[in-house]
Amino acid sequence: MEIVVLKGNNEIGGTCIQLSTGSTTILLDVGLPLSATSVCVDVATINADAVLVSHSHQDHFGLIDRLNPDTPVYMGELGKNLIDATHVLIGKKLHDNNFRFFNSWKPFHVGDFKITPYLVDHSAIDAYAFLVEADGKRLFYSGDFRSHGRKGKLFDNLVMHPLPDIDLMFLEGTMIHRSNDEFPTESAVEKKMLDILTQQKNISFIISSSQNIDRIVSAFKACKKSGKTLVIDIYTAWVLEKVREVSENVPGMEWDNVRLYADFSQDEKLKANPDYFGDFRKRLYRHRVKWQELTANPSSFVYFGKMSSFRKINAFREGNGPVNIIYSQWQGYLDGKHSDYFGADRIAEFRNDSEINFVYAHTSGHAPLKDLQSLAKALNPKILVPIHTEYGEEFGKSFDNVMTLTDGVPFVLN
Ligand SMILES: [Zn+2]
Repeated sequence: MEIVVLKGNNEIGGTCIQLSTGSTTILLDVGLPLSATSVCVDVATINADAVLVSHSHQDHFGLIDRLNPDTPVYMGELGKNLIDATHVLIGKKLHDNNFRFFNSWKPFHVGDFKITPYLVDHSAIDAYAFLVEADGKRLFYSGDFRSHGRKGKLFDNLVMHPLPDIDLMFLEGTMIHRSNDEFPTESAVEKKMLDILTQQKNISFIISSSQNIDRIVSAFKACKKSGKTLVIDIYTAWVLEKVREVSENVPGMEWDNVRLYADFSQDEKLKANPDYFGDFRKRLYRHRVKWQELTANPSSFVYFGKMSSFRKINAFREGNGPVNIIYSQWQGYLDGKHSDYFGADRIAEFRNDSEINFVYAHTSGHAPLKDLQSLAKALNPKILVPIHTEYGEEFGKSFDNVMTLTDGVPFVLN
């Protein structure tokens, strides 16, 4: 089996790994780089028999629209539905790729390759690692994963019942130089939220991603325990609709303690796509909260929204005591270098605003070093290759059998 890491040996984001036998070529992830200065892999020129997408984060799937539309793209169906949700609600057309959906733990074949997806715990729901077998060799690609979210048992299962005879393992290393100690688990995030909500005199805004389902569950539970009502927007409500098709434990807009605030621009997208949304628009209006209700009794509500919520935050400043902002995603987004996050600079300014109670509560989507080491020890690969990391050359200090590859340079596993 020939392996070429096209991107990801010394970068977080933009991951793309090419695997070939004599007659079959597949790609593991076709990610868009997170850094604006990083060059994208030219995936259009690669004649792949299939592309495997580990999960619905841009830095793993973001280049699928540059593939030949006939190339089969294998991923989880929920992940694909969540990509569609974003596209429809920001007014972009849906991908016209040749999608094929796999199920966790069910092997499938692409030419010479046998592939088994393993559902993992990550900040994106429906995320997978892959066991790839061909030419008598077994390769394990970790994708992005962690052990400390609400699906941590998936990690425990991988460690307690490790796959045998792994020849080569790609292990993600996002957190090699980052600490997750302040909020080591999702439960710690929920507890911090509860502390704030219990004391709130004015509304709280939780700034996070609507696709971080663990985080929405934390917000919902903290609201329920503190007697507050969680307010979500149309996009978040639609994401939850899609997730609830496979897991009814996740809150939905119909639940007690959940209301929906309908922004005009998102409502226009619902009107423009009636076939896609079905009766969703009709149903959501039964659960709507009006702006006047929020402003009349702000201490009863908790608004879950994205960076662009800054205008709403400003509207609550007067009269009721400080607005709480619970910033609940990676702090790096506030450093001014991530222009794709509209409103990030305004949210960042609130950190130094004496009328705002700005609180951080976030746990990483990625495993810290000790969990990376547990998985590596359990799988005990003959070769361990760092991926999705800026510090691959440091893996040798913490792991056995490390071999670093160079982007674009082939390696033959035999
Ligand atoms: Zn990810």
